[in-house]
Amino acid sequence: MKSSETTSEKKLDQNQGNSKNKEKSTSEKAQGLRDLFENELKDIYWAEKELTNAIPKMIKNATSEELIEALTSHLKETKNQVDRLQQVFESVNVKAQEKKCEAMAGLVKEAIEIMESTAKGAVRDAGIISAGQKVEHYEIATYGTLASFARILGEDEAASLLEETLNEEKAADEKLSEISDAINLDAANQDL
Ligand code: FE
Ligand code: ZN
Ligand code: FE
Ligand code: FE
Repeated sequence: MKSSETTSEKKLDQNQGNSKNKEKSTSEKAQGLRDLFENELKDIYWAEKELTNAIPKMIKNATSEELIEALTSHLKETKNQVDRLQQVFESVNVKAQEKKCEAMAGLVKEAIEIMESTAKGAVRDAGIISAGQKVEHYEIATYGTLASFARILGEDEAASLLEETLNEEKAADEKLSEISDAINLDAANQDL
């Protein structure tokens, strides 16, 4: 007990000593952020591809014409976002690779659960909007972070491309908010 306490205290001292005495060079510092940037890029690349499969399922389950239109238009945008990510990979000289995004896999799983557990009509539409907005918020967080990382790493072309997608995700989220007002009211009046 006592000896393990001493060991961990010693480790802490050593770590503090390291960060004080061994100043990292600028490139060493940037490498950690660059690795993080590249990993998150691969994560969102998987996520966007997953969405090109998931959005059609949401369209099939939706009833409201406005919702179907919004989802159809965002599906087109999403396919373009996959291509845009390939441009980002190119611009930073990294091979375009997918890494499974557990968060998006979970959000899509929940979207499917919602569609399976609701009656078709306004209630299911309200559920689809709720699931869709969670997806958009995840994407907004991701692209905001990635664009910021890219700027700091001096990857201005990548940053501009990521900001372009960020704006599309924000617009998609706002569109869903807009159409949710009427749909949620309809949902409140729908019989089970
Ligand atoms: Fe997207
Ligand atoms: Zn993810
Ligand atoms: Fe989360
Ligand atoms: Fe999106």
